[in-house]
Formats: sequence, structure tokens, C-alpha cells
Amino acid sequence: MINKTHTTKDIEELYHKMDRPAKRIGFVPTMGSLHRGHVSLIRQAKAENDLTVCSIFVNPKQFNQSADYDAYPRNIEKDVALLEEEGCDIVFIPSETTMYPQPVDLSLNFGHLESVLEGKYRPGHFNGVGIVVSKLLHMTQPDRVYFGQKDLQQVAVVRHLVDALSFPVEVITSPTVREPEGLAYSSRNVRLSAKGHQEALIFSHSLQSAATLLSNGKPLKEVKAEIQSNFEQNPAATLEYMELVNRDTFEILHYQDKNIPIPQALCIAGEVEGVRLIDNILLDQH
Ligand code: AMP
Repeated sequence: MINKTHTTKDIEELYHKMDRPAKRIGFVPTMGSLHRGHVSLIRQAKAENDLTVCSIFVNPKQFNQSADYDAYPRNIEKDVALLEEEGCDIVFIPSETTMYPQPVDLSLNFGHLESVLEGKYRPGHFNGVGIVVSKLLHMTQPDRVYFGQKDLQQVAVVRHLVDALSFPVEVITSPTVREPEGLAYSSRNVRLSAKGHQEALIFSHSLQSAATLLSNGKPLKEVKAEIQSNFEQNPAATLEYMELVNRDTFEILHYQDKNIPIPQALCIAGEVEGVRLIDNILLDQH
């Protein structure tokens, strides 16, 4: 039976009963509307720890558009049933007043990470992520915390946060889980029509073909132009960016130099049917 908790006190009482000091805790923060991507994080946490905790909280602070927050899918009962089926030990479902009993007048600045890609397109987003992740880590006190590679820049932000503020937790990144045709699972996918779902494949397909073209030696500038032109021919999907980056620092790379061993990723973002989608692919290190 999964244990449902809503406050820090609930968690403390449970930890006491469960002999927390003798246990390794793996924590998976989510915004709910759980899908196979989340399930894979839960399974990894379960395999690597004694107890698994999952939080479900749609964090208003990380939405830079209130319409996006309002439209965000919510499905608590189904989520709890799925977590129970997966053998998750504790689900933490705080209310907004539990998370924010008073306004948090605090700005976290993640430097360069704030000015590129998601930082640039979603001003304030990473500040909200940093605040909620800090609070959740204090409340759940995990040994390990799990994040999906799907949100690669978020992983860089969280690693920066954990290092800078000395959180005693290990950050683990888990691979992106995709539908058979390539679309990365995302809670936002439920807002796409069947047609939009098909059209959204352009994102993962663009990443795949860009990776192949680059590995065949095509210059990055030409690869980007080709992807851009594919989007122009598919007006159902709009491209915000596709960039090659250093996946640790998110420095934008303007050409691919195979002689320099930089851990690289191609990151893409855009919209279909008013739904914002992001994806990325890690490139082999040379
Ligand atoms: P969210 O509920 O969207 O905030 O996501 C919660 C966690 O699940 C984050 O660490 C995400 O990166 C991760 N996640 C979301 N989608 C996927 C996916 N398709 N594959 C792997 N992890 C994912």
C-alpha cells in the first residue's frame, strides 16, 4: 500500500516509522499526469534505493504563462494508482499553501543557463524550478534525486543548484523514454489531437536527422538551415530553436569540432497546436 503524504510533518512521521536513518531514499519530483517517462524514473529509483518517494506538485512558480499553468493536465487519482502499481513507497502531494505558506521573494540566478534556450524563451522558469527543487529536497531529505534527460537544461540547473548550495544529495539523470515512433513522452502530449501528435514527430525526427548529417560531416550551419527549411514546409509545427550545446555548461557551439572532446547535445523546442514541446539528443563524444 502506497503512503500518501501532504505535509512535511506527514513525511517526518512516516520516516520515523520506517527507520529512515537505516534507509537510502530515492526521490522523483514530478508535476503529475504521469507517463512512461516518469515510470522509468520511479523504476530506477526503486532499483537503486531502499525507499522511493515521488512528489506531485504543479509548481505555479515555474510557469511563465498563467494560461500554460491553467491548461497543465492534472490527474491525481490515476497518478497515485500508477505509483502504487509501480511499488513507489511514498507519494508526496503538497498543497500550494504547504509549499508556499508565504510568498517567496527570492531570486536564484543560474548565470549563463538563464540566457540561452529554455532560460531565454521562458524567463523566470529556472528561478521557479530552483525554488521548488530546493524546498522539495529539504522536505523529503533524499539520498538521491532523479531527473529526466528529456529536460536536459533543467538537469544542468539542478546540478548547479545542488553544488552551489551544498545539498547532500546525489543527482541522477535518467534517459529519455519515447513512444515507438520517437516522440518523447510528456504530460503536455495529452493536449495534442491525433493529428497534432503525428505532426509533433518532426521534433524527434529533426534531432535524429541532424545527428546523422553531422556525423556524416555536414557543417552545422547547413544542418540547421535544412532543419529550419523542413519546419517552414510544415506550418503545423513551429521551431523556436535547434542548437548544438555543451551539455554540461549549455555553451552554444557554432560548429562541430570532432577533435575537441566536448560532451555535446542537440536541443530543440517549438510548438504544435499551441503546445510547447522540447526534446534533445546526446551526441557521441569523439
Ligand atoms: P515533469 O512532471 O514534466 O516535471 O517531469 C518530472 C520528471 O520526469 C523530470 O525530471 C523530467 O525530466 C522527467 N521526464 C519527463 N518526461 C520524460 C521522458 N519522456 N523520459 C524520461 N524522463 C522524463
